[in-house]
Order: sequence, then C-alpha cells, then structure tokens
Amino acid sequence: MTTLQRSYETKEELDFLRRTKLGFDRAIQFVNAEIKPIEKGVIEFLRQPFRQLTVRFPVQMDDGSVHMLTGYRVQQSRIYEPTKGGIRYAPDVDLDLITALAFDMTLKCQVVGLPYGGAKGGVACNPKKLSRTELDRLTRRYAYEILSVIGPDTDVPAPDVGTSEREMGIIYDTYRMFNPQTPYASAVVTGKPISLGGSKGRREATAQGGAYVLEEAVNQRHISGLRSLKDASVIVQGYGNVGFNIANILNQDYGCKVVGICDSKGGIYTEDGLNPSQVMTYKNSNPDQTVVGFDGLRHLSQEKLLTSPCDILVPAAKETQILGQIAKELEADVILELANGPTTNLADEILFDKQVFMLPDILANAGGVTVSYFEWLQNKAGENWELGQVKEKLQKKMSAAYNDIVKTAKLHNLDMRSAAFVFAILRAVDVVNERGIFP
Ligand code: NAD
Repeated sequence: MTTLQRSYETKEELDFLRRTKLGFDRAIQFVNAEIKPIEKGVIEFLRQPFRQLTVRFPVQMDDGSVHMLTGYRVQQSRIYEPTKGGIRYAPDVDLDLITALAFDMTLKCQVVGLPYGGAKGGVACNPKKLSRTELDRLTRRYAYEILSVIGPDTDVPAPDVGTSEREMGIIYDTYRMFNPQTPYASAVVTGKPISLGGSKGRREATAQGGAYVLEEAVNQRHISGLRSLKDASVIVQGYGNVGFNIANILNQDYGCKVVGICDSKGGIYTEDGLNPSQVMTYKNSNPDQTVVGFDGLRHLSQEKLLTSPCDILVPAAKETQILGQIAKELEADVILELANGPTTNLADEILFDKQVFMLPDILANAGGVTVSYFEWLQNKAGENWELGQVKEKLQKKMSAAYNDIVKTAKLHNLDMRSAAFVFAILRAVDVVNERGIFP
C-alpha cells in the first residue's frame, strides 16, 4: 500500500491551506499517472476558489464602544450549485483558513455524493469574550454583509466552530427580511433550530456519521487490534458540539469507554471511564467553561492526553493538532478525524508507517453536511422527517461512502486519505466533463 503524503513537517506544512493543496496536488499527480489524464485547465478550475469575499464591518458592544471586525465567505467550486459550508467564529479565522476549509467541503461533498460545491465562511473574533447580545448583533451584521452571495439555490451556510443553531436562526431571519418573496427561504441555512425548519438529528449528525463509519470499519475487521466497539477505549479532543456528541454516542449506543477528554484549556483521563453527559454538565456549570477539574482528576496537557493509552482517538477540535511528535507517541489503533484537517502531513506518514488505521476528515465528518442536505431537501419539499428516517438515510450514505473509499484504496493500493482525495477528484472531474465549460 502507498501513501501519497511524503514530506517533512516544515513551518509551511503546518499551514493548513498549503497542506490541503498538497494533498490535492499529489492526488492529481496520481490520477494523471495511474488512472487517466486530466486537462490542466480543469485541474486549475477545481483548485481555485471562484469567489473570496472579505467584509469589514462595525459592531456595537454592550458598553457602547464600536469594534471593527473582518468576515469572509469563500465559495470554492461551481461544479454544483448551491455551494455549502459552515461559518466559523474564532480568533484565528483568516482568508487562507476559510479557503482551505472551503476546498475540503468541495471534496467532502463528492466523497458522500452530494450535489453541492464547497464553501466556508467566518468572522475573526473570540465568541467566548462576547455577550449574547453582542454575538447576535455581530451575526446579523455579518449576515447582511454576505447577503448578496448566499441563498437557498446559490450558497447555503451551516454551523461550525463557535457558531450554533442560534446564529443560523438569525442568518435565516436576516435573509427573509430582505427576500420576503423567496419561496422556501428557510433553505438558505442548515443547522437551524427545529422550530425554524431545522432537521431532527442535525445537531449530532457529524458525530453520528463518524460513528457509522467507525462501526463499518470495525465490522469489516479493517482495524487491526480492534475487533469490537464494546468496551473499546476512546479519547476525544475538543468538547463542543462534535466532541460531546461522539463521546456520548460511542458510550451510550456502542458501549465504548470514554477514558479521556480535552478542550482548549487541557484534558482529563481515567481508565475507569467518564460519563460524557456528566462531564458536559460540569463544563457548562464551570465559570471557565472547561472539562478541567472534573471529579478532581489530574489536569493533563493536550500532548499528554493525546498520547495516553486508548484504542480510538477522535480529534474533534480544530486543524493541525496531531503533529509528528504526537503521532510517534500516540497509542490508538484508529483515528476518527471529526475535526477538519487535524493531522499534519508528517504525522500522517508516521501513522501510516505505524499502521494506525485512518478515517480521514473528508469521509469521517461528512455526516454533518449530509444531514444538512437532508434539512435542505425537507425545507424545499415542506417536509419534516422523523429522527429514525434521518438516521437510517445517514447510515446508508456513510456506509456507502466508506465502502467506496475502501474500494478505491484496494483498487489503487492507496491509504484511506489518498483514496478519499482520488475518489473525490474523479467524481468532480466527471461532473465538469459532463457539464462542460460555459459558454
Ligand atoms: P465547537 O465550537 O462546538 O467546539 C470546539 C471545541 O474544541 C471546544 O470545546 C473548544 O474548547 C475545543 N478546542 C479548541 N481549540 C482546542 C485545542 N487546541 N485543543 C483542544 N480543544 C480545543 O465546534 P464543533 O462544531 O464541535 O467543531 C469541531 C470540529 O469539527 C471543527 O474542526 C469543525 O470544523 C469540525 N466539523 C464540525 C461540523 C459541525 O457540524 N459542527 C461538521 C464537520 C466538521
């Protein structure tokens, strides 16, 4: 088996946009050499975002002061419309990060076979330092600034780090005020509150989709050292929407033992296993909003937690977290990448050599956009699906995608991440060829 990631961890390679483009370029080289040649211009068409909007806008704080903020909306691929992707509120949001995340969205939608191009948006801010009313004003103004480029059939945002159902509700309301005649206007965003047309199962969809992919890998005996999820030990990095839900689902539905959890302030670990809901209740009631200190457990650094003993490691925080040194030391048999881009190129190589089974982000975390697609379909059709129906359809999509990537990996003797890139590129190229180039 070969990996297409052969490189060293330089400062540039910690750069997420560069890493994503490298992965794409290597997969393109492989497709060109081993499968079929792709027209150069088509490669550039797939590689370049078609729109990068930067907006600067004022927000009034509760104390009357005015802060200038910068926001972005990047639409990466026009192979399908609408484009689709989350909105992130975080201090390190910049144009490169949002562009890389939009690129990932294009590939991810192809992995699960959704008729969407990729997009992403964000505002550079620290949501933890803003009050509820400040966040609401920020969201409404940001929505206004990007209004001309979003719409149910053009570009459909969703939640990501630092945003939730509440922000999606505000974006929908702002869009509706300016577009009173638009039919099915609620389809302008997904991940909305249920009362505004949100889908049952959307909040936990990313984690649920990841659990289905992991289940498939275990059932097919693809993870050496892991024959069953019952009593398998799990460490989760990041304890927000995705991190909490994966801990909860693996513990409640599959009988896994969640032995370690961390957030941006540090981690906790116990071989006896943690109760995910109790940890969340503790985090929410803690003035520092952290899991650190739960049950008097020792405070662990990120590095210490990620390299503590476990069967399954789930990065669910942010990009470039599993670096080479951590990859060398970590003990997991499988990595379920629910965060986008958590593993660096060097770490990937080391994990490949150690035969750690990788469930790559553009496959593992595609459950979120898949249920977003279901929400969008429900909004357009005026329907409201039951949770069981959503979960059944999600499981079918995720297990089909898993099997497609495994098949590609076997056929071309590739690792799972390279196979996911190759599979997505082949699908995207087919769409471009079948649509043709306008005019
Ligand atoms: P969130 O804001 O709800 O939670 C993020 C969590 O990560 C928080 O607990 C935060 O404290 C923690 N964190 C931040 N920096 C950290 C660090 N350096 N170390 C450890 N923990 C850290 O965000 P989310 O929606 O749960 O998203 C998490 C990841 O999943 C992101 O990479 C996101 O892009 C990806 N993702 C989310 C969705 C979705 O539907 N929400 C879909 C696909 C992928």
